[in-house]
Amino acid sequence: MTETPQNKSDNSSLKTPKVSFREIIRSYGLKRAAVFPIVALVFIAIILTYHFLLYNYTKTSILEEGRLNAGQISQEVELYMSSGTDTLKRCAYSMEKMLADGRGHDEAGDKGPGGTHDKVLQYLTEETDVIQHSILPESTGVYACVHEEYHDGSGWDPGPDYVPMERPWYTEAVDDPGKIVLVNPYLDLYSGDIVMTLSKCLEDGKSVVALDITLGRIQEIIESHTPKYESTINMVVAGNGVVVANTISSERGKDYNDENGTLGHAILSELSTADSGGNFDFAFQNGSYTACAVPLSNGWYCISVTDSEIVYRPINLMMLLSIAASILTLAVFLMIMFYSGRREAASKHMQSLLISSADIYMSLCDLDVIDNSVTEIKNVNPAIAKACASVNHNMKEVFLSIMQGLPDSPTKQAAIDFTDLRTIDDRMIDTDTATIEYLSYGNIWVRARLIVSERTKDGKVSHVLWMLENITKEREERESLIDMSERAVAASEAKSAFLSNMSHEIRTPINAVLGMNEMILRECDDDNIVTYSNNIKSAGNSLLSLINDILDFSKIESGKMEIIPVDYDFVSLLNDLVNMIKMRVEAKGLELILDIDPEIPRSLYGDEVRVKQIITNILTNAAKYTDQGSVTLKISYDKRLKVNDCLILMVSVKDTGIGIKKEDLPKLFGEFERVDEKRNRNIEGTGLGMSITKNLLSMMGSSLNVESEYGKGSEFSFKIVQTVRKWDPIGDYKAAMLLFSSEKNKYVPKFTASLAHILVVDDTYVNLVVFKGLLTRTEVQIDTADNGRRAIEMASEKKYDIIFLDHMMPDKDGIETLHDIRSKAGSPNRDTPAVCLTANALSGAKEFYMEAGFNDYLTKPIDSQQLEEMIYNFLPKELIETVDNP
Ligand code: ADP
Repeated sequence: MTETPQNKSDNSSLKTPKVSFREIIRSYGLKRAAVFPIVALVFIAIILTYHFLLYNYTKTSILEEGRLNAGQISQEVELYMSSGTDTLKRCAYSMEKMLADGRGHDEAGDKGPGGTHDKVLQYLTEETDVIQHSILPESTGVYACVHEEYHDGSGWDPGPDYVPMERPWYTEAVDDPGKIVLVNPYLDLYSGDIVMTLSKCLEDGKSVVALDITLGRIQEIIESHTPKYESTINMVVAGNGVVVANTISSERGKDYNDENGTLGHAILSELSTADSGGNFDFAFQNGSYTACAVPLSNGWYCISVTDSEIVYRPINLMMLLSIAASILTLAVFLMIMFYSGRREAASKHMQSLLISSADIYMSLCDLDVIDNSVTEIKNVNPAIAKACASVNHNMKEVFLSIMQGLPDSPTKQAAIDFTDLRTIDDRMIDTDTATIEYLSYGNIWVRARLIVSERTKDGKVSHVLWMLENITKEREERESLIDMSERAVAASEAKSAFLSNMSHEIRTPINAVLGMNEMILRECDDDNIVTYSNNIKSAGNSLLSLINDILDFSKIESGKMEIIPVDYDFVSLLNDLVNMIKMRVEAKGLELILDIDPEIPRSLYGDEVRVKQIITNILTNAAKYTDQGSVTLKISYDKRLKVNDCLILMVSVKDTGIGIKKEDLPKLFGEFERVDEKRNRNIEGTGLGMSITKNLLSMMGSSLNVESEYGKGSEFSFKIVQTVRKWDPIGDYKAAMLLFSSEKNKYVPKFTASLAHILVVDDTYVNLVVFKGLLTRTEVQIDTADNGRRAIEMASEKKYDIIFLDHMMPDKDGIETLHDIRSKAGSPNRDTPAVCLTANALSGAKEFYMEAGFNDYLTKPIDSQQLEEMIYNFLPKELIETVDNP
């Protein structure tokens, strides 16, 4: 594929986006989004309309039902009542005839046997019988008051107290002559039924005939009408409020006018509000009622009452359920819309991301591996766009042929293999991404990426995102960075090598200078020469410490500095420190104050060399930067913290010197940084000591604490953990030191061994002279060789007690020479202890020489005490003749 260098930085991110609701709405478009509330409103409107219609229908149905009930019942009651009225009319007529026939009889004739009264009674008795057995079985009989005398067709004897003219059936009839009067019904205690009386005043205006009817039939009429609604009650109420009949039979006989607070009473009270159709609504307690009242001809009412609340309850419930169901449906619908919207929005979002990232990529396409087609998301390059457009279900073939046409380069085959989508399933079985960089058309470096975006159920790759990025510039920058870092590494290695070599090269001549100088000091009696010689010693030591500092610094820089703990004698460490500083301090006329805790254990375990170096650095500085007064070395340990045989040594060096300004304190630990340089320019130093000290302390898990007052003095202190081997205390160090130093001033060899034979090999002649010179007083017999071959020869001829070999020698070096000596068959020195002489003071030297077969090693410049100590340790004890301070 051909590309143009249009890439920008690769900062695109194709994470699955989080899509907000707003984005979904945006993705749907406002019109589509408005569908949600419209659908909701339509839903609710439909439900409310439906409910409204249902409500109205039910209300109409209740009214109709009420009207129907009341109407039908009233008709039947009227019919029933008319049979009573007809019967009474007939009786009245007969009675009137009977009375008219008997007119002219006197009172006595009326009452005598066969008189009017007898006839009336007989008639009433017969009529009662006829009525009860044919017309009105519910009737209890006909009775009358004729000429103020009571006659009862049913044979009932009211007793002497009964005054018929005072009874309502008589009085009301007399008050309304010619008409049939309906006396208000009453509960007949005798029959337990409600009884209604119909009476009529006869033509004489004094006689009244009456008919009693029990109203059980009306109750039957009511009960024969089963209402449509369970909550419907039908009733017939008399004009006086007495319940003649009621769907609830227990209500019969109640006088609703007296039943305050009951539904019946409420019905009667609301009756007046009825419309022309007799309908009325009213509320009672928590219910609302719809009633229909039809008046009867006798002044009664036939009423049908329905508790509409109960009827509406299922409708209301249905409405609530419908609303709930529609809300639920709507919610489900919304959720589906939301999720599908989210997916749509996410895919749009992703698409826009991809399109914007196509600015970074030269080409961004969706490859349909199964359909073998390509969908271009964005192509910056017209050539790629054209190639994509030419694909017609032959994407794999098109892509392959494009790649096969790439110019020859070492990356061509890999690029072809990468783009071969026929093998994609095998290649991308465990991974979803693959990347390659190759040299493309027009000498452009391209990074191609494949990102699997979809797989089939059986794990086959179905869709892949294909990205091409021009990385020509990036590669140039990367290569230049690699080049730079390689050069930096090389420079650093060169620096280390240089330091190592310099160490060797400088230490070797210093070895000669200091060694020869030592000879002069030991052998010369001329005071002037001894003074010069002492100056050489001092300058030589300074030079040596300078080199040591530079070496340590380079070790720290390259991470090669190590903390190597060993068993050590704390008194010996103190001796070395005090010996080193004492002369310096005294030479400047300062007082050295030692404040050493006598309880410090003598036998400790730690990196003696580095502990000594740290304290030496601080002490040396104290001496250097103090012109008058004192330098105090205080060492103690924290008595509260003696855990697991460890102690915390507390070291402090206090001086009365120039002090350090507060603002200079941070500079103290900078490499090659010297504080107050103008004032200190005459004081020698590199500015490395404090930095090394700080680094060493940090390697031991500690830090340096500095307190200083400019012009008054400073105090440097630190704490380090050391392991205790034995808790034997060092005792009064100051007293021991005094004794020790008075004895130490003069050189006395550690031992004499005149029968011991030592071979020393070094290619530098002066070193051999120094070596021999340093051991003169031990009387040891020393043979020298200035090269390896000579040494091998000598060692094959003579048995030596110790062999000292220089490491760096031309031709055969020390290690090769040792191997030859040890491996030569029949050599008398196969087991002779061998010590390596080396100027290599870098870390790891000891391990290196021990591994090479040496028994120990000595660094140059050779320290005469160390040399004597080593020989003393390696020599067979029978060869030692005299020993100083064993
Ligand atoms: P240098 O080789 O210059 O002594 P160091 O790293 O040992 O380097 O010390 C850094 C600087 O800290 C010194 O140059 C000196 O100015 C200051 N310094 C160190 N110790 C003391 C001290 N005891 N009193 C005053 N200044 C000190």
